Amino acid sequence: MVITRPTKVFALFGDPVAHSLSPVMQNRAFAYHGLPFCYIPFRVRREDLNAAVVAIRALGLGGVNITIPHKEQVIPYLDEVDREARLIGAVNTILNQNGRLIGYNTDGAGFLLSLNAEINFTPGGKRVVLLGAGGGARAVAFSLALGGTRALAIFNRNLERAQVLAEDLRRATGCDVETGNLRDDFLYPALARADLLVHASPVGMYPHHEEAPLVKAELLPPGLVVCDLVYNPPKTRLIIEAEARGCRVLSGIGMLVYQGALAFEIWTGLRAPVEVMRAAVKENLHNFESAS
Ligand code: NAP
Repeated sequence: MVITRPTKVFALFGDPVAHSLSPVMQNRAFAYHGLPFCYIPFRVRREDLNAAVVAIRALGLGGVNITIPHKEQVIPYLDEVDREARLIGAVNTILNQNGRLIGYNTDGAGFLLSLNAEINFTPGGKRVVLLGAGGGARAVAFSLALGGTRALAIFNRNLERAQVLAEDLRRATGCDVETGNLRDDFLYPALARADLLVHASPVGMYPHHEEAPLVKAELLPPGLVVCDLVYNPPKTRLIIEAEARGCRVLSGIGMLVYQGALAFEIWTGLRAPVEVMRAAVKENLHNFESAS
């Protein structure tokens, strides 16, 4: 694009940011709508986060995405944080509204949109097993609970972390939540009753894509919906094995695209060109040619 006087700048703050797909996705969406906007990744160290947020106002940036490791730490520097982001305890999108910085979290809502748009799944009344209790798992768990999920079973290597998330969910949403660690006997009975399994750990992510999934495919009930938040490779070992078992599957690419689409809509007020953004992501997932 040509940078001119009216060009508005959007940014990504994180550390690292070099491999992020957000710049190609957002710049492609801006170009699609003919907007004089550009999106630039900035590596921001922890000790510089406050200064970087002050610079959003000082430089008049239109908005910013926040990624690892700043999603939680950024909250005290903002003027306002929307309800879902406050519950999740993390912000991934900031809107600069005439100098007032408003924080949102589009990860969970992006996950639900992807489930709905790609496999016509809605969480109301469903039973869900969630593997993991980190940042991605928190966003998914709150969006599911706020979306009317009937029961959530959270399994995590570190049981205490799952228990903290469960307590936050019960207090804020009243959702029925159980917890266990990954070796618990209760994992497979929970899967047998579940409508949806969500994997939210980095196990199976490139370059460790041969790593064994956290659950054995032969114990997955056929018909279960299996969603992996990992998007590189687009077809993880869990997704391949679950598909062969007769499960309905969903890769993490959809969540990545829809969280970006929601950020785009918050910044521009325009409808995000979701398929244009998805194509940009697939073209730039260099390590896997079979991005399908
Ligand atoms: P995170 O906050 O660091 O949490 C990592 C989670 O994975 C924790 O629950 C951790 O358990 C667990 N874990 C890590 N290594 C493990 C292992 N070897 N065995 C079992 N459990 C393990 O990370 P995150 O941000 O939630 O990201 C998790 C994955 O989701 C990443 O692959 C990320 O790329 C993906 N993600 C995708 C999207 C998307 O848009 N598609 C969005 C967010 C995240 P402990 O608590 O025991 O350490």
